Amino acid sequence: MHPTRAESYDVVVVGGGSAGVAAAVAAARIGARTLLVEAAGFLGGASTLRNVLTYCGLYTLGPKPRPAVGGIAQEVLAALRALGALVGPKRFRGVFVVFDPEAVKRVLDDIALEAGVDVLLHALLIAAERDGNAVRAVRVQDRSGPRRIEARAFVDASGDCDLAYFAGASTRYGNRGFINMGTLGTRFGGIPREVPVSAARWSEAIREAKARGVPHLSKETGLVVRLPISGDVVAYLVAEEYDARDAASIGAAEMRGRRQAWTYLDVIRGIPGHGNAYLVSTGPEFGTRESRHVDALYQVTAEDLRSGARFPDGIALGAWASEFHDPATLGSSFEKPGSETYDIPLRALVSRDVSNLFAAGRTADGDRIAGASLRVMGTAFATGQAAGVAAAHFAAQGSVSADEVRKALAAQGALLDGENLPGPVAIEA
Ligand SMILES: Cc1cc2nc3c(=O)[nH]c(=O)nc-3n(C[C@H](O)[C@H](O)[C@H](O)COP(=O)(O)OP(=O)(O)OC[C@H]3O[C@@H](n4cnc5c(N)ncnc54)[C@H](O)[C@@H]3O)c2cc1C
Repeated sequence: MHPTRAESYDVVVVGGGSAGVAAAVAAARIGARTLLVEAAGFLGGASTLRNVLTYCGLYTLGPKPRPAVGGIAQEVLAALRALGALVGPKRFRGVFVVFDPEAVKRVLDDIALEAGVDVLLHALLIAAERDGNAVRAVRVQDRSGPRRIEARAFVDASGDCDLAYFAGASTRYGNRGFINMGTLGTRFGGIPREVPVSAARWSEAIREAKARGVPHLSKETGLVVRLPISGDVVAYLVAEEYDARDAASIGAAEMRGRRQAWTYLDVIRGIPGHGNAYLVSTGPEFGTRESRHVDALYQVTAEDLRSGARFPDGIALGAWASEFHDPATLGSSFEKPGSETYDIPLRALVSRDVSNLFAAGRTADGDRIAGASLRVMGTAFATGQAAGVAAAHFAAQGSVSADEVRKALAAQGALLDGENLPGPVAIEA
């Protein structure tokens, strides 16, 4: 048996994706001793682990897009721009920016370390202990064995609700039987910069291949976009249905997905100018869009998105469309918010049955329609920052008030007032 190492923090954040990094940085900046636990060897979550290389949700979607997320997200954008690693905002259905994932790793390392966050990479959360209706400690595994880490407050930014589930908090998988389909983000090199890359042309080639009976192809349409720095092209086309909670299921999907990626490569090589295309990377992990959610004190609803709801405890603004990826049709919806933004209330981040547990990013509570909007990375930075502030307040005083959280978020540059957004931004061609 390996000895269990013991540590203690004010706030432990599980998951180092967009939401988790923002949560940990926000908590540390207001004085909480904060640990960020991440299973991978780098931060970024989907942006570095799953080839999801476009931040959505940062801008409103109308004819004159305006910033909808401030604070830590804007610091990340500025640092990426300074490295020449960000282009946009651009428009394709919605408004988004495109980035280089290696630069994201560096920028997130810097921002976490400068804030004084203790970052524990290569550390898998495997269990949680309860003390009444609170989480007392988590267990994290590395190659030396288990570590037991106590904290006063916890943020579940794992995407899959591993922390909430292991702690026995109320969670659910998907929404009433609906679950967004996963996609293996696929990155291609060898397409010269002067060759125009057209999603419509790729779709045409895929349709033609399917008509010829080529197997191992799924989606015909999806984002196809050139990256800064490398000039590589990333595409979200390879779709599979699987259960994200089950290693056998997701593992089999990974293998089928890689087979698909090679078939897509064959198909696009037939497009003029694409003859020397090659696969730079798949994933490396399959892109799970949806898994478990925390059952929170409030669930953001379709009606909230459609009406542009406002709440006194609003702690983030949702601006992205409801984009539900349907495994039955392989198609996706795109329902824009009824006004430029809708409020996400603090209650949608607070576990309904575990007092010191906060959700962030795609673990936050939204129904099938609203959840398919608020999960995107731009909004995940915002809910993450809010969850981090709330957890730090809870750790300091054993309770949390929405007014205090809103005040602290405003001081950290977060955008909370959907009726008074900053001025429009220029869209790149
Ligand atoms: C194919 C695809 C395309 C998408 N397109 C876009 C897009 O264009 N723009 C956009 O903004 N969003 C997009 N999304 C959605 C977006 O990527 C996610 O909703 C977003 O990344 C959520 O952020 P997060 O921080 O909550 O979770 P994640 O980014 O998933 O990060 C979770 C982190 O937790 C870690 N973790 C999980 N379990 C444990 C554990 N037990 N122990 C330790 N660490 C753990 C993971 O390793 C990971 O780093 C897309 C998603 C997919 C899959």
